[in-house]
Amino acid sequence: MQDDELAFLEDQLAGTELLSCETCGEDTLHAHAEVLEVYPMATKLLMQCTCCQTERTWIDWIPPKTKARSN
Ligand SMILES: [Zn+2]
Repeated sequence: MQDDELAFLEDQLAGTELLSCETCGEDTLHAHAEVLEVYPMATKLLMQCTCCQTERTWIDWIPPKTKARSN
């Protein structure tokens, strides 16, 4: 296995999330498959179920670093 391929797989393993899968009918581990869009406050990701390989989108919300101005 090539080094960059191994690094990619390690990245995927590090990026798993427990999400509900419609095909499995339960919460399963999902691996980061692809970054679809990056917003100022969130990242839209394509996630793949590690059990049945079904893909779904997922929004990863980035906690705001600076507090919004309060009225
Ligand atoms: Zn699944």
